[in-house]
Amino acid sequence: MAKINKSVNPCDNFYEFACGGYRDVGSPLHEMQNEINDWIEKLAMEPVTDKDDKLVKLMKIFYQSCKNNVGSLNDFIEDGIDLRRRIDPSAEHKHDFTWEEVIHDLQFYQNSDAYLFSIRMEYFDDHVRLVVDQPTFETKAGFLDRNSCTTCLCKMKDKLDIAVAAVYARHAVDETVKMEIADIINATKSQLFDTFEAQDWLDSKTKEAAKKKLSAMKFYVGYPDMLLDENFLSTYYKDLDTTERSLVEIYRQIHIHKCEVERKLLGDVSDLIKDLLFLKQTAGSIPQVNALYTPYFNTFLICAGFIQSQLFSIDRPKSMNYGILGAVVGHEIMHGYDNEGRKYDENGQRRNWWVKEDEIKFIEKSKCFVDQYGRYVEPKTGLNVNGQLTLGENIADNGGTLLAYKTYQKEHKIDTILPNVEFTPNQLFWISKAHSYCSNYDYKYMETLIKSDSHAPGRFRVIGTLGNLKEFGDDFQCPVGSGMNRQNKCKIW
Ligand SMILES: [Zn+2]
Repeated sequence: MAKINKSVNPCDNFYEFACGGYRDVGSPLHEMQNEINDWIEKLAMEPVTDKDDKLVKLMKIFYQSCKNNVGSLNDFIEDGIDLRRRIDPSAEHKHDFTWEEVIHDLQFYQNSDAYLFSIRMEYFDDHVRLVVDQPTFETKAGFLDRNSCTTCLCKMKDKLDIAVAAVYARHAVDETVKMEIADIINATKSQLFDTFEAQDWLDSKTKEAAKKKLSAMKFYVGYPDMLLDENFLSTYYKDLDTTERSLVEIYRQIHIHKCEVERKLLGDVSDLIKDLLFLKQTAGSIPQVNALYTPYFNTFLICAGFIQSQLFSIDRPKSMNYGILGAVVGHEIMHGYDNEGRKYDENGQRRNWWVKEDEIKFIEKSKCFVDQYGRYVEPKTGLNVNGQLTLGENIADNGGTLLAYKTYQKEHKIDTILPNVEFTPNQLFWISKAHSYCSNYDYKYMETLIKSDSHAPGRFRVIGTLGNLKEFGDDFQCPVGSGMNRQNKCKIW
């Protein structure tokens, strides 16, 4: 509640009202992410013990080898020569392989870890010089920026993504919480069937296809089930050993191992393909304060990091859980029906399931959002939001927030009233929704965000979305024509 600035009229600018008191730099989401990262890093820093299972051991060895920069440039070169010998055993005796061949093999690592080493040949009249640039693992050498993953924590999260995700998910996700969230998701899905039915601009054929897609839409709370399947995990990491060794060696092992094990797994059980691909695609996001929808799988995931953060709690009023988590659930589901998601069918195939006239109406309605958001000027940078770039997110925000609100109304006619809080449960829903977007970014960050992020800045995600919803205006009794109850409202879902 400290974030609220009561001197601002909520009907003029709800973002300033809800977030005006937020003074910290960055955003609460970043703080929550830092807490998760600290937990993972602290675990990886501890000495290996007998009690550790294989995944934890792998994490610790990777992280500590990286920190201590175990493995010098000489090891690296030796390693290349060694690899050459292994590929062609006769070379061991002959020593007649060329540097070109060694480099060729070394580039094998480079392909997957371009930022680990930079290696090149320089040709002179009478000789060839081999140039290897080895950045220390904690510096930001210019070429490292290509991949901003420069810390040992980030490298570990990247290279051992499935192990880190599994270790974190075990620690973070509680079964009771999972069930509670699954209930919210199911209620939201069922509300959307009604919403589709109520769209008077849609032909019944389009409605049916939209519902078919919704019925087939899968979701995971925290992580894909496969992640904590002990059989899968032990097969996946079977050939990675946990002896202490150089980082170069670990990288190589991980790389070879990944190709091998995935080939084997897929060869053995081909119906795993979709699950494994989905897991591979999302593993890195599992320990993040995030949620995602992928149209190719018609599946969404509320990441473990999101669930464990302060964004959700069983003990707080439902209005708050629906305003934050419910709205995120709604947002992810609506991605299946935004300007890109709508092009995919229930099986994740790119196939047009729209009646032609409805498609034209959809595009027409989208233009309203493109224009509306495109008019917003970010105060710090003076830059306009890009209405086209942010269109998909804005459609998901608008449809998803209303969906969450309606689900909340239906599921919880009576809600807990917080003592000493002057807001009604419905008002608390909107305040909670807005609070997840409070932020204070510096000029540079904001500039990058506006130019490249598909999400509009938090301020406009709040003003834009809530100002389009009649339900918000009613709950705060905003006069028609006020900042938050604009006359020309954009709406698709
Ligand atoms: Zn989104």
